This record gives sequence, structure tokens and C-alpha cells, in this order.
Amino acid sequence: MALIVEKYGGTSVADVDRINAVADKVSSAKRAGDDLVVVVSAMSGETNRLLTLADQIHPQAAAREVDVLLSTGEQVTIALLAMALNARGCSARSYTGGQVRIRTDAVHGRARIVDIDAARVRRDLDKGRVVVVAGFQGVDDDGNITTLGRGGSDTTAVAMAAALKASECRIYSDVEGVFTADPRIVPEARRLDRITVEEMLELASLGAKVLQTRSVEFAGKFRVPLRVLSSFKEGPGTLISYEEELMEQPLISGIAFNRDEAKLTICGVPDEPGIAYRILGPISDAHINVDMIIQNVSADNLTDVTFTVHRDDYVQSEKILRDVAAEVGARGVVGADNIAKISVVGVGMRSHAGIATTMFKTLSADSINIQLISTSEIKISVVIEDKYLELAVRALHSAFGLQIAETKKSSESLTAREPDAVDGGNKA
Ligand code: ADP
Ligand code: ASP
Ligand code: MG
Repeated sequence: MALIVEKYGGTSVADVDRINAVADKVSSAKRAGDDLVVVVSAMSGETNRLLTLADQIHPQAAAREVDVLLSTGEQVTIALLAMALNARGCSARSYTGGQVRIRTDAVHGRARIVDIDAARVRRDLDKGRVVVVAGFQGVDDDGNITTLGRGGSDTTAVAMAAALKASECRIYSDVEGVFTADPRIVPEARRLDRITVEEMLELASLGAKVLQTRSVEFAGKFRVPLRVLSSFKEGPGTLISYEEELMEQPLISGIAFNRDEAKLTICGVPDEPGIAYRILGPISDAHINVDMIIQNVSADNLTDVTFTVHRDDYVQSEKILRDVAAEVGARGVVGADNIAKISVVGVGMRSHAGIATTMFKTLSADSINIQLISTSEIKISVVIEDKYLELAVRALHSAFGLQIAETKKSSESLTAREPDAVDGGNKA
């Protein structure tokens, strides 16, 4: 008998029909002999609806109260699913995050799970019950309700699976697995049978919202057997793999994008030791996360420093930067929030040249200007104007041959297309 943790996202529990469909699926798995813990999200759109309500009452509402409000979304779906299971003669009990003792730190809105009281869940499982757990929420040491950040039900599920040493954690969504790109943007995107955990981590953190980044980190740390599947359609889904190298390693596994960033440039700052610290120190003191950072070559001992932040932090960052500019005697501050970041990800990049060249050539063929570039061992990201996002993602998807099944794709064909590698390591 296997213990399986299943997670159903918002679209999978969007209405009574969908909840009944989930209950059918869960009760037949239970009848087949598996032990089941089921984590659910709020009905789709509900978390946004609650956020809008809060905003209408008080735009700067205390984060603690926002968490109390948001956690109600998942409380509705756990109760309805438990009722639907009981109606099928499948004994079930629902629990909020606090009841099942998902203990978190006290950072409201993006709390981290500290531990889970697995013994409580086991007592119910031993009695033959299905345990239904509210995703996205926990409780801090003072008993305050916390939430784990948007998409956090994925993390609840993976953390439950780790705590219970489940045989598998299955994330059910409205897509049939992890695709080579968001299938909503690229219709010819292809489902991957497997993806390595490090590629999944990059894709998630670079914008592919099919799994919350934190859930992939958790899975990697505890080696949780993790699969992404559709709750609408039968199929094998995508398995997250922990093997260092898969047998047939594609060069590029996927493309991710996000429109959540904004960029800021401080122009004409003295190029001297400590300047990066003087510019970025106050930004980090304000708890603003910085993503890409680029410092230009200096002319006449003056340089420009550009960095990106989350769009929500744009206005505050600009204000901080203007103060810094006045202090260090910089020429000025410019910024833009009409940008998008596109990233190609693949562990095959480590051993193949030509990826960056293909990327830049493809964008230039469509006359898309690259504003910023950053790389890591297994990814290359570029920032472009956001109006070109869809065009760029589709063009790159086809340039890297991602729509073609891996077995048919020869890695030579790609390197052969890009013999003009310059310096910059394998990626160029
Ligand atoms: P849920 O509500 O079930 O948690 P999400 O909306 O959070 O579902 O995540 C699923 C969505 O992720 C899909 O509808 C799809 O548009 C998007 N997505 C983005 N990138 C990818 C990708 N590479 N593969 C699959 N889905 C992706
Ligand atoms: N309901 C939460 C959200 O919309 C958590 C989740 O669905 O994973 O972000
Ligand atoms: Mg999600």
C-alpha cells in the first residue's frame, strides 16, 4: 500500500462539478488501496477576489490580517472536498494548516515552513481516512495564521510528502505536465516526460508558474518523488528527476518568462571601490530583492549601473536610487517597467557551445532589442521590451527545435547551425 500526497490547484476545484470530479478520482484511488493525503487550493480566482476586497477596505492592510483573510479560500475547498468524499462512502477529514500543525516562521505573506506534525496525519490515515489539508497556509509559534506566498499550495503538498515520506507527490493542474514553454503562449509546446530538478528550479524561479519555486527547492532538498499531471485528462505527466544526467539529455529543456520586473539605471556614478555597495546597500536595507545587476565600462571614470527589481518595488526603488544619486553625485536615474525577461534553460548547456549565439541571432532576426543579459551554468536570460514577449518566446521555441520530440532531435544539428562561437565559455 502506497502513501500518495495529491495536490489539486484552483482550476481543479473551481466549482462543485470539479470538486465532485476530484472526489471521484480520490475515492477510487483509495478503494484501489492507496493511503491519500490531499492538499487543495482555493477555488480559482478566489485568492485574487479576497485580495481585491482587502484592497478596497485598506490598501495598506496589516499583513497579518491579509493572511487571516486569504486562508479562508482554502478552508472552503477542504470542507467541500471532505464532504464530497464522505458522500461517496470514503471517510475523510479536512484540516486547516494550523490544525495539522504546519508550523512556519512569522513572515506573513511569504512564510517558510519550519516543520509539520506528521503524527497527527498518520493517526487519521491509520483509521483508514483520507486527510484533506488546506494548501498555502500554516501557523507561527504564536498561533497566528500565515500564508506561504502565491502558488504556495504546491509547497504545502511537497512538504507534506517529505514529512510523511510519501511514495509520490502528485501536483494536479490544468496542464498535462511541465511543457517546453507555457502552452498558453506557445501552442506547439511539448510535454516533457522528465525534467531534472535543477532545470525545474530554474524554470520555476524564472517565471514558469506550473510549480512554486519553493516547492521545487523542498523537493530537491528531501528528494521527494514529484510528478506534475492534469486533473482534467489522464496521462503520465512529467516526473521531476534527481539523476545527475539523464540518458538523452536535450540541450535546452524549456523557456520561461516573466513580466514582473522593472529596471533602473543610475547614470554617471564615480567608478570607485564601494560604489556598488553604496548603490545597492540602501535597496537591500529596504528588503527589496534585486535580480540582474549590470555595471557598464567606465568612461572618464564615470559608470552606469543597471539592475532589475520586482515591479511592485519599482516606485520605492526609484525613490531610494534618487536619494543615492544625490549623495554620490551621479548624473541621474532612469527606469522602465515595460520590460519582460525571457530565459532558456537546459543542463545540456554545460557541454555545448552556441546557445547564446542562437538566442541572440533569433531575437535579432525579429529586430528585438536586448536590453540586459545574464547567465548561469544552465540558463541564459535576456530582458526585452514587453510588447515583444510572445513573439520572442515563440521564435526561440522554434529556433531551439523544442517542438520536436527529443529522440528525433540530434544535438549535432544545433551545434552545426552555430559554428561561429566566440568567447564567453560554452554558452556563446
Ligand atoms: P494551479 O492553479 O493548478 O496551481 P497554476 O495556474 O499555478 O495552476 O499553474 C499552471 C499554469 O502554469 C498553466 O495553466 C500554464 O499556463 C502555466 N505554465 C507556465 N509555464 C509552464 C510550463 N513550462 N509548463 C506547463 N505550464 C506552464
Ligand atoms: N490560493 C493560493 C493562490 O492563489 C495558493 C495556491 O493556489 O497555490 O496563490
Ligand atoms: Mg499554482
